[in-house]
This record gives sequence, structure tokens and C-alpha cells, in this order.
Amino acid sequence: MALRVKALQSLLVEKGLVDPAALDAIIDTYEHKVGPRNGARVVARAWTDAAYLARLRQDATAAIAELGYGGRQGEHMVAVENTPETHNLVVCTLCSCYPWSVLGLPPVWYKSSPYRSRAVIDPRGVMAEFGLVVPEDVEVRVWDSTAEIRYLVIPQRPAGTEGWSEDALASLVSRDSMIGVAFAGASGAGS
Ligand code: FE
Repeated sequence: MALRVKALQSLLVEKGLVDPAALDAIIDTYEHKVGPRNGARVVARAWTDAAYLARLRQDATAAIAELGYGGRQGEHMVAVENTPETHNLVVCTLCSCYPWSVLGLPPVWYKSSPYRSRAVIDPRGVMAEFGLVVPEDVEVRVWDSTAEIRYLVIPQRPAGTEGWSEDALASLVSRDSMIGVAFAGASGAGS
């Protein structure tokens, strides 16, 4: 695969179809600037700032852009909030649509056909395989992403975090919790 990519790249550059500096800029963006830390900042702000949460509910794309995140695959965002009554799970049954601006590039499992089909048929079973057991009395809603709309799950704020700083709260918000296959919590930092 790496060799094929290299061969394609040198051909495109040779023919003048692609500027190597532009490629470097794209790679740098997705390696260093775009990733789940962006989404975690959105969630932490929503947890601590009621006015921001209201704006996020009204127009997630604009509220996310307030924090400086936007661009390709993040143009039409919808935030879905987990509550004691409702848990949200995101999938793209057709392919791999995913909110790049807040979560970075999708994990391999998100693009796999077992996840894409089973997340709809048996969401609780899929979540259990991630170690997430959603209580029976909590409704599970599955959101099918498209090229038109991308979803960001706002996980529930963990108990016992009253008075925490936004930075500290953001460290509790994992990528998986913003897809809906995990809760936000102490073990969630980073990935
Ligand atoms: Fe897709």
C-alpha cells in the first residue's frame, strides 16, 4: 500500500497535477491540527457554558466554528446530547461519513462493514463489545451520517466534576465517547 501511494504521488507530482507543498500542508493538518481534542473542547465548553450549549443546539456548525474548528467534512454539523433518558450512537451505514473537523480521521472500525451494519440492527450489542452497557431503561438512538449531515455526540458530564476547569473536563472526553461507543470518564483521555 505504501509503495502504491508513493508511486501515485510521484506520478501526480511529475504531471504537475499535485503540488507537493500542498500535500505536506494537508498531512500536517490531519496529523497535528485536526483530531478528537477539538471535539473534546466543544464538549467541555458545552458542559460549562449554558449559552454556548444553546448555540450548539441551534446551529452546531456555527458554534463549533466559534472555537476555530471547521472546514472539510465539518460543514453541516448536528450535536446530539446524551441525557439520563437517551443515549446517542453515530454510524455511517453507507460508507464512512464522519465529522473530521472535530474528531479527525475515522478509526478503521468505524469504516468496517460489521460496524456499519450492526450498529443499526443491534446497537446495544455493538456497544457492549466496546465495553459500554447502556441501561435497558435508557433509549438508544442511532444516527446515520451522510455527506450532508455529520453528528457529534455530547456525552453526559461525569458526576463529581463540579467546578472542574474546561481543560480538565476536556481531558475526560474521548473520541469514542463522541461517537457514542463510550461514556466520558476518567479512562477516556486522549484517544
Ligand atoms: Fe459515509
